[in-house]
Amino acid sequence: MKIKDKFKIKNPLISFEIFPPKANYPVDTIYDSIDELYSLYPDFMSVTYGAGGSTKDRTIEISSHIQNKCNLTSIAHVTCISSSRNEINNIINSLKKNNIHNVLALRGDYPKDAAYTPPNDGFKNSVELIEYLRKNTNLCIGAACYPEKHPEAYDLNADIDFLKRKADSGADFLITQMFFDNELFYDFYDKVHKKGINLPIITGIMPILNKNQINTILNLTGNMIPVKLRRILDKYENNPVALTEAGISYAISQTIDLLSWGVDGIHIYTMNKPSTAKKILGSISAIRGVLTNESKSS
Ligand code: FAD
Repeated sequence: MKIKDKFKIKNPLISFEIFPPKANYPVDTIYDSIDELYSLYPDFMSVTYGAGGSTKDRTIEISSHIQNKCNLTSIAHVTCISSSRNEINNIINSLKKNNIHNVLALRGDYPKDAAYTPPNDGFKNSVELIEYLRKNTNLCIGAACYPEKHPEAYDLNADIDFLKRKADSGADFLITQMFFDNELFYDFYDKVHKKGINLPIITGIMPILNKNQINTILNLTGNMIPVKLRRILDKYENNPVALTEAGISYAISQTIDLLSWGVDGIHIYTMNKPSTAKKILGSISAIRGVLTNESKSS
């Protein structure tokens, strides 16, 4: 089913993001995690696309497993910055062949290799990819948005101007970059709507499980860490178990606040750890109106 149609029958949607296992691990090492995540009744699962298309085949294979073996809606992430038009056409054909109706259309990060030159007939940014997909396919198209602005954007207004182009090119819905301060998202939402962008926005939640993870995130996204979360990180940085527990609790309270505010969806960056997603969803089962086997018996 197309994700845009799911919003018509259910709101908010709950989704999980997983990434393909590294090339030296068999692809089916992820299937047990998918089964566990599936048992939490998500509305869809998304599968990331390794930098430069490094996991291309696995992204499609895993998305197909979710869609066809689990009978759950899947969305394949696709980045275009390192791909020729022909490569993107091949991906579109694979999606079609595998009955996958949803794609998250991304530019991707520029390769760090200084000698890199983009393919001549490729796509320079997500807008060009979205335009092409809209014109040439019947796919439901998701796009990324950045409540704290993309690191390359001059400022948040410039980023939202670019987001308007994604919407006008044919994106059907948006998924946010992770953020840790809901107030920043509420301000962003207000600005996005004032700009005339009326697409559903699914909010990305990343539970912090360890100290290294937060440093990687900060380098990648430039996210702001609110005082409340900083205190947790400082206090428990040398106590991994306590830090994980507090990180998950923080994600739960962030999720409850977003749902109370009325977001269109929650997208959990699971890091392929079903136990984390389980704890978060276990704490909002009544709020979601979904009784899992665990909450039924408790
Ligand atoms: P774009 O939207 O093309 O551009 C990024 C920013 O650059 C824009 O927001 C805008 O501010 C600026 N910009 C670009 N072109 C112009 C222009 N012509 N004029 C003005 N401003 C411009 N990466 C992966 O490699 N694999 C994944 O699976 C993956 N999944 C993701 C999922 C989500 C939900 C999110 C939020 C990000 C994901 N990423 C993934 C990271 C993403 O690839 C990077 O953030 C990348 O740097 C930008 O991709 P984009 O599609 O947002 O790019």
